[in-house]
Amino acid sequence: MGLVEIQEVRKVYRTLYGPVVALDWVSMEIGKGVTVLIGPNGAGKTTLIKIILGLVRPTSGTVRVLGRPPGRMEGISYLPEKPFFPRGVTVREIVKFVSKVRGVPPEETFSLLSELGMEAWDMRVGALSAGMLQKLGIALALTSSSELIILDEPTANLDPVWRKRVLEMIREKGEGAGVLVSTHILTEIEKVADAATFLVNGQVVFSGSLVPLLSKKRYLIRLRDGRTLETESLENFVMENVEDIDVVRRTLGDVFEESVTVVHE
Ligand code: ATP
Repeated sequence: MGLVEIQEVRKVYRTLYGPVVALDWVSMEIGKGVTVLIGPNGAGKTTLIKIILGLVRPTSGTVRVLGRPPGRMEGISYLPEKPFFPRGVTVREIVKFVSKVRGVPPEETFSLLSELGMEAWDMRVGALSAGMLQKLGIALALTSSSELIILDEPTANLDPVWRKRVLEMIREKGEGAGVLVSTHILTEIEKVADAATFLVNGQVVFSGSLVPLLSKKRYLIRLRDGRTLETESLENFVMENVEDIDVVRRTLGDVFEESVTVVHE
């Protein structure tokens, strides 16, 4: 059984301009390890995350999270796209408060913060840079015994050195928990991901294992009609071909069924 099971979920927002279909018959499963949720702006990633957390109700379909309907946060950690903390409190105060609520030792979070080069624990939130705020959110989300950790764009606002370190931390966490990471930057995350779900226009283009991608730099994609396409990144390929979603779906099916040819490392 997966940690999260999503079956035939539709989400239609009612707006002044008419209905907006944010998710269109989405089915996927999230298990232990790192699952990356990727898609262009407006693909439906945040809506899907909010449905898993119980913050948004699907229009139809079924969702089970840790064996129960969504809505309860026990066993779940969440890093929102823009972490928010009260401006007047210090890093130390926040870490202590969150640790107490969660029943985990604050030392773990402080140690992660140090690993991320953040030692200014007496600074107030209002004085933190965007990157420092992000690091605080990441350290808090990753310090937990949660079975499910959901990180919305965790590497946003971080420079390449810290991105790399955060990805390593995510990898380590994925050894014991299910980690769902939403991102636009597949080229980085594919190094640590065990599984991927590509969303385009609210539809799942591909959902499955990412093992064949590890450390590969270039792909030759064989279309079922015999044509071949070369691409440096599957993300580019998906984005360039989003209009013909059926071609992408079929093609990625081929790719992940191990018909990937590495042109060069
Ligand atoms: P991004 O990468 O830009 O954050 P996303 O993949 O997270 O995008 P969503 O934010 O889930 O995508 O949006 C999916 C679609 O649903 C978009 O067309 C968006 O305009 C629409 N949408 C999202 N939230 C609402 C809302 N509260 N009311 C109406 N429409 C919404």
